[in-house]
Amino acid sequence: MPDFVASKIVKQYPTPGQPLTILDGVDLELDRGDQIAILGESGSGKSTFLHIAGTLDQPTSGTVSLFDRTLSTIPEKKLAAFRSEHIGFIFQQHHLLPQLSALENVLVPTLAVGSSTPEQLERAKSLLESVGLADRMDHRPALLSGGECQRVAVARALINQPGLILADEPTGSLDEENSALIGRLLLEIETDNPAILICVTHSQSLAAMFGRTVQLKHGKFV
Ligand code: ADP
Ligand code: MG
Repeated sequence: MPDFVASKIVKQYPTPGQPLTILDGVDLELDRGDQIAILGESGSGKSTFLHIAGTLDQPTSGTVSLFDRTLSTIPEKKLAAFRSEHIGFIFQQHHLLPQLSALENVLVPTLAVGSSTPEQLERAKSLLESVGLADRMDHRPALLSGGECQRVAVARALINQPGLILADEPTGSLDEENSALIGRLLLEIETDNPAILICVTHSQSLAAMFGRTVQLKHGKFV
């Protein structure tokens, strides 16, 4: 069985009339090391799909499994721990905590399962080095540029060595140069275990960096 399987995902929202169908039977299978970009117009359901893939939302019907676990069978109170163990998120806005340094921000996902270990501290430092921020570790977000903050967010997403990385328009608020940099980091950063990378974007140039792209249209991948 592939590491990630989304099968017949349907997402509907009730309305006074016909339910609004956002996802209409989406299938996707990926293995560790696969890197895919999802394109689609605004409102086509890209974020909805990513949220379902990342256990942040439930489909109306259909199933998602990750590393042989069916997401819908994970008890609610275990979801946060499952997410922090297996899934790294990168959003359009970096969502760094303003009162913490870059280094502390990278370590935040390690706190969901206790305090950070010395190994995690070393890993956080080496991730910040690999995103080019070795000399910014003690800076708070206010002292970093938008591109630098997003690089911290990339390091934060990778700290727990997730098997699945979900990026939702990660370069949406960056200029061309920083977008390309983030794209390269996402695609090339060294990890001990190759992860699955799913990246939503409406940047053609970011999508072009990926070996595989799909487009979400009328609730389906085309
Ligand atoms: P994208 O990320 O591709 O821009 P989204 O996944 O955010 O699109 O949204 C897809 C569609 O779902 C949009 O038309 C949006 O208005 C609708 N939508 C999202 N959340 C809700 C909700 N809670 N209730 C009703 N409609 C929603
Ligand atoms: Mg979106």
